[in-house]
Amino acid sequence: MMVNKKLANDTIAELRSMNIIDNNFRIQHDQNYVYIPVIKKIEGHNYVEKIGVQKENTNGKISFSYDIIGDIAIIKGKSEQEAKFLSKHLMERKNIKTIYLDNGINGEFRTRTLKLLYGEGKTSTTYRENSINLFVDVQKTYFSPRLSTERLRISNEVKEHEYIIDMFCGIGPFSILIAHKIDSDIVAMDKNCDAIDIMKKNMEMNKLKGNITPICGDSAELMKNYRNVDRIIMNLPHGAYNFLDVAFKALKKNGVINYYEICDYETLENRMVFFRKSGFEILYKRIVHGYSRNLNMYSIGIKKL
Ligand code: SAM
Repeated sequence: MMVNKKLANDTIAELRSMNIIDNNFRIQHDQNYVYIPVIKKIEGHNYVEKIGVQKENTNGKISFSYDIIGDIAIIKGKSEQEAKFLSKHLMERKNIKTIYLDNGINGEFRTRTLKLLYGEGKTSTTYRENSINLFVDVQKTYFSPRLSTERLRISNEVKEHEYIIDMFCGIGPFSILIAHKIDSDIVAMDKNCDAIDIMKKNMEMNKLKGNITPICGDSAELMKNYRNVDRIIMNLPHGAYNFLDVAFKALKKNGVINYYEICDYETLENRMVFFRKSGFEILYKRIVHGYSRNLNMYSIGIKKL
């Protein structure tokens, strides 16, 4: 739950009395807001996607950070020895066939360095989110289930017949969900051709109302071929900033950019100044999840004036 700092103490006390604070996660804050992890939502409050900074150990209960993608589990932020010990808790789950330790997401394609901890060592699986099915290869391509709420939110913003570019589409979770729900025209780009091949498979696996054109290539170059675009999705949180010039040119007046960046609060404020100076209105800015002590992943919506 996201609350104004001034209201935080009272809200925390109230939530404690209702027993709905999720004690596995830390309460976090930035300059204006406090983010309280809760086990259920109360109407009338604002929420951000789960901020993934978990406590080491709570009341003797083991809690740790992991993703489950289909029948694959991926443990994060632990040594191999610790992760092997923790994986015993995941093995008990009937549907888990393989467990990996994630030693970091690296390189231009943002792929994971994985160490097999348990199971058959498969890297591909199918995963269901927001009413679509996705074929995922956790080794060859980037995919994170932590953005599912964000993808749903963006898909809810899209209007019929929008012309959209998904500049860093990966295996296509944004594009597929939008095209599944809305008659739209989407160009989906990624430099990783394995991701584009999987994206094509995902287009076949789902019923689509919209049209998607998947292209393997460098967005910096490809974007030069497009103008008058209604919406551009820029989900490259460590580097999207370097592609803003080509995106600005391709976007039409009143067009929207859904922009993601992992940064500290000061950088975020500098971006706001830059967007306004470049002739954009800020539609929203919010934390998607915590990334490290000082960094968060932010979701920012801007409109070209
Ligand atoms: N949007 C997808 C999702 O939500 O799963 C993938 C996002 S992932 C953080 C960023 C993607 O950008 C990766 O798949 C990577 O291969 C791609 N990428 C990185 N540099 C690129 C470039 N210059 N042109 C096109 N794609 C690029």
